[in-house]
Amino acid sequence: SPDQRWEMRTGETTDCARIVHLIDQTGNYAAERMRVDFVANASHELRTPLASILGFIETLGEEAGADPAIRTRFLKVMFDEARRMQRLVEDLISLSRIEAEKYRLPPDAVDLAAMIREVRDEIEDSGHARASDVELDIDDATPRITGDRAQLSQLIHNLVGNAMKYGRSQTPVTIRLAAEPSGMVRLSIVDEGEGIAPEHIPRLTERFYRVDAGRSRSLGGTGLGLAIVKHIVERHRGRLDISSRVGVGTTVLIVLPPADNVATVEAGVIKG
Ligand code: ADP
Repeated sequence: SPDQRWEMRTGETTDCARIVHLIDQTGNYAAERMRVDFVANASHELRTPLASILGFIETLGEEAGADPAIRTRFLKVMFDEARRMQRLVEDLISLSRIEAEKYRLPPDAVDLAAMIREVRDEIEDSGHARASDVELDIDDATPRITGDRAQLSQLIHNLVGNAMKYGRSQTPVTIRLAAEPSGMVRLSIVDEGEGIAPEHIPRLTERFYRVDAGRSRSLGGTGLGLAIVKHIVERHRGRLDISSRVGVGTTVLIVLPPADNVATVEAGVIKG
């Protein structure tokens, strides 16, 4: 049976795998496999910068540490590695919080148009973008949605962040907001960047899935951004659609139910 096979495997692997197995004995082999992979990936992602920091501390304690120029350079590397760990831990915490709230209806009536403008201003103030980098195409008549303010803001930040990271520097990122004739709210983030080959698209929302891990890391990515986006969209009973063409650009579309319809969606009338 799958469970016996599982026992054999966990016997051979790490303590992490065994603990995960003990926590979840629902017998769902695929889900457990995914969870074990997740723990293994997360541990690995944390271990690499940690090992690097420890190595630099050791070297600083030796003769090389007496040289101020070397000290400054090493401290900079250690700071960057620690920041990388911090981003990862923050994303892991976000992900588990969002999952924990999965079945709780979001509490706020959210005006996405206002939120998009706020996020755009935050990005500009953070110095990561020039004013022309993020263009808005907003229909102010778009209805409010029932949402979780902090999560929706994180969703927009993650998507605009990706669009800027993987976009070409001279091309704009556009955030569009409008209502469909059906009343559903459409939010899209459009970039004219490198694009994504079709075989990768179905896997992008998996935790730690990256088209080019080295490139993502050097751009400060954790590999969890789109997994977080997917969970936020699910909690809001929405739909996520990523379309892309290599060398042309990427559009991430999110369709969300308007505030008045959330109860109906809950009842299963609009679902699907
Ligand atoms: P990361 O932290 O690596 O950006 P994400 O989960 O946000 O992690 O995205 C997963 C991967 O999807 C990225 O590593 C990148 O390869 C690809 N990707 C995401 N957004 C875009 C985009 N707008 N254009 C091109 N590739 C993208």
